[in-house]
Amino acid sequence: MASEVSYPLQLSSVSESHASLYEESLKHPEQFWGDLASRRLRWTKKFDQVMDCDMRTGQFKWFLGGVINVSVNCLDRHVEENADKPAFIWEKDEPGTHEVISYGQLLESTCRIANVLKREGVKKGDRVAIYMPASPLLAATMLACARIGAIHSVVFAGFSAESLMNRINDASASVVVTADEAVRGGKTIPLKSIVDEAVGGCQCVQRVLVSRRTGAHVPMTPRDLQLEQAMSEVSDSCAPEPLDSEDPLFMLYTSGSTGKPKGILHTQAGYLLYASITQQYVFDYRPGDVYACVADIGWITGHSYVVYGPLCNGATTVLFETHPTYPDPGRYWEMVQRLKVTHFYTAPTAIRMLIRKGDEWVKKYDRSSLRILGCVGEPLNKEAWKWYNTVVGEERCTIVDTYWQTETGGITIAPRPAADDSQPKPGFPSLPFFGILPQLRSENDEVITESNVQGHLCITKPWPGMARTIYGNHQNFMDVYYNPHPGVYFTGDGALRDENGLYRITGRVDDIIMSKGHRIGTAELECAMNTEPRVAETAVVGYPHEIYGEGIYAFVILKDGVVASVETIAEDLKTIVRKKIASFALPNQFLIVPGLPKTRSGKIMRRILRKIAADRHEELGDVSTLADPSVVEKIVQEHNLLK
Ligand code: ATP
Ligand code: MG
Repeated sequence: MASEVSYPLQLSSVSESHASLYEESLKHPEQFWGDLASRRLRWTKKFDQVMDCDMRTGQFKWFLGGVINVSVNCLDRHVEENADKPAFIWEKDEPGTHEVISYGQLLESTCRIANVLKREGVKKGDRVAIYMPASPLLAATMLACARIGAIHSVVFAGFSAESLMNRINDASASVVVTADEAVRGGKTIPLKSIVDEAVGGCQCVQRVLVSRRTGAHVPMTPRDLQLEQAMSEVSDSCAPEPLDSEDPLFMLYTSGSTGKPKGILHTQAGYLLYASITQQYVFDYRPGDVYACVADIGWITGHSYVVYGPLCNGATTVLFETHPTYPDPGRYWEMVQRLKVTHFYTAPTAIRMLIRKGDEWVKKYDRSSLRILGCVGEPLNKEAWKWYNTVVGEERCTIVDTYWQTETGGITIAPRPAADDSQPKPGFPSLPFFGILPQLRSENDEVITESNVQGHLCITKPWPGMARTIYGNHQNFMDVYYNPHPGVYFTGDGALRDENGLYRITGRVDDIIMSKGHRIGTAELECAMNTEPRVAETAVVGYPHEIYGEGIYAFVILKDGVVASVETIAEDLKTIVRKKIASFALPNQFLIVPGLPKTRSGKIMRRILRKIAADRHEELGDVSTLADPSVVEKIVQEHNLLK
């Protein structure tokens, strides 16, 4: 494409002072983001205007008039430089095995899948549902959609047929791409037959493309096509579709922690720029590093930090197909040793689970390659932070607790290790990223200016990675994010700012407990209780209490091998809460449980615990995103024994 305008990838050194770049991003946003977009992205036609955003109406446009193709930015330009450069290291389920996929190979599969999709009638703007195991072919399918301007909707390949059906119908997808089976932790999951069941309830689906993962025999209908076979029949090159900066790139459902998942829509240029700049700057990614974000691609973390951010930067990124305890709890660290991983990015739930298994699993392996340890998804309690820092990181690495959401497209609050020498503060994601101007507001919409006061976390300026809408439901988008505090984006989370301007997330505002007239954040209380050495994890919720308004109910998981009565644990936990918080925050009820209800991305679903605590077991609501529904039954039984 002779008309293409190309710029060098980097704007400035990653280590340039965060404060100065941040200030610049707020003072001159048009110049700041315009410059970055010009230099970091390859445009078919450069944009005419940087932004046109209105937080009152929820209309957001970035890089207006620009023509771009995301797959060209993630693949072609790196292939031009070095086609053999590793794009993915695919850490396969089978212990000790990985495959390296170069940028050249990834571009070829992307083009072939794009040609198959085109042959099957998929056009710009059409929706393609993807229900596949973590594999290079899954990433290539996403990029193939991006190449032709189709909108992908990746559904985590662990959801039930019904959840999948609802998501396919919501997007009205014409094509579903899947695999014969997935393998995870040595067990197979019959993806194709789940798709068959789901598609039975979907009028919109014309074609199902089935790739090979295990080679198992799966029944095929006239609607189905074998993907690799189809790929071999088409050309290995595909001209990228010229797309407007604001054409949709993908839709993705939120985790469903608080209710029915929302189909969040992201567009081309702004999202890509934001994913790429955060991947480089927050993690201090340098050429030659091996970056391992072990989140599933079915979540936003996988979209932004396994696929789009790293590939846009020409990075080498690990694609993790397996489970952290397969074949044993040393899997992550054995992988770190074998692949010489420099960056490791996971979720607090995985860290807490591994703490339960004991330090020896970590110490067995050489982790000297590690430099940055990241975390996202829930508040990282201080105990887990410390373990991550000392046991995994040998106090040599930097802990990067990143706060963000499906809706924000990329990281919004996080330490910038390269720009700031000091070790980040435990429990504090810390500093807003470029362009992010957080504000704390009270329930009555007053701006909170004092330090160490909890409030609703809002963002008052637009940024390129922000969600554009909820697919097909802009009114809902406004009601959830922009109407609660008119004129600003409301995250739904509570936070406080310390005297140095560092932010700490106190939990979702719906989860705040009002007890004895005090507002108690779930995160703060859980964080304190998790310091008890025999305790692996806790979750607190409020429940109706005659005297206190709300009582506090604490669900407690003990570390593996610990035997203790609920009375002794409760006494010790109360002592800790009294010391670390205050006696008004003492839980009224304790229950030792074998597990907690969690979303498939590992977050505690407190709304279910609230129903259990309030004796309203019959009204659990949407549980389709629950990872293990049987745990609910077990907790209900234990709870009933209390009475
Ligand atoms: P739903 O919106 O459907 O209830 P969800 O909010 O869990 O689901 P995600 O977009 O995957 O869906 O998660 C974003 C949320 O995760 C944030 O709003 C916040 O509550 C929590 N979170 C993410 N990172 C952090 C972090 N570093 N510290 C504290 N909380 C975090
Ligand atoms: Mg959310």
